[in-house]
Amino acid sequence: MRVSGAARFTDPERAPLIRKAFELIAESDHKSSFRLTTAMGLTTRSGRPLPKQTFSRMIRNEFYAGWIINNGTRIKGTHDPLISEELFARVQAKLNRGTPHKQVHEDFPLRGFVRCAGCGTKLTAGMAKGRTERYARYWCWQKGCVRPIGVSRDELEAQFKGLLSLMGPTAEFLAQIPVIAAREWEARKGRIARLRGAFQASRGTNHFEPKAHPRKVARGDFR
Ligand SMILES: [Zn+2]
Repeated sequence: MRVSGAARFTDPERAPLIRKAFELIAESDHKSSFRLTTAMGLTTRSGRPLPKQTFSRMIRNEFYAGWIINNGTRIKGTHDPLISEELFARVQAKLNRGTPHKQVHEDFPLRGFVRCAGCGTKLTAGMAKGRTERYARYWCWQKGCVRPIGVSRDELEAQFKGLLSLMGPTAEFLAQIPVIAAREWEARKGRIARLRGAFQASRGTNHFEPKAHPRKVARGDFR
């Protein structure tokens, strides 16, 4: 059996906001997602203010990930999914867990912080199944990504620490700070002096001083 969902999803105005709603839940939570997307203009299909319950139903609707529930059977729709199944699953997990934020970030502190080199999407993280055990990994979940990043947690965190150490100021640099500051100050003083000079010069040329108008000499003056 085939059920076409394409006709059901002709909603180009709401589509980006609905996608944003899912992304925001994944990034923060249900509540702020509702607040932000409605503030950005997400309404009901008929353009009315979106009730909270409708929003809650919407973010649990598998239709947006490409699925259709028909008489209790879950089938792949023929419509283009609005969001990835991965994002949908993350959102559902989050909604079912309540407030899982802390736990997730303790395990994967770089999740949502490091971006994929292939497409720029923020990497997600989780436990990936290996042949014998589960591994903590970070990866790019973007379907269209041409060069999706997949990296073990240990490796990514080690690389990140390495990067931080590169960014830390060296003793040599710290010792230079007074010299740099003095040089900056001199340059700044020079700029101020030049500006002042230019200002005064312009005042000199544009300066208008009303001259006393000598009265015309009249014949009567010589009397
Ligand atoms: Zn990517």
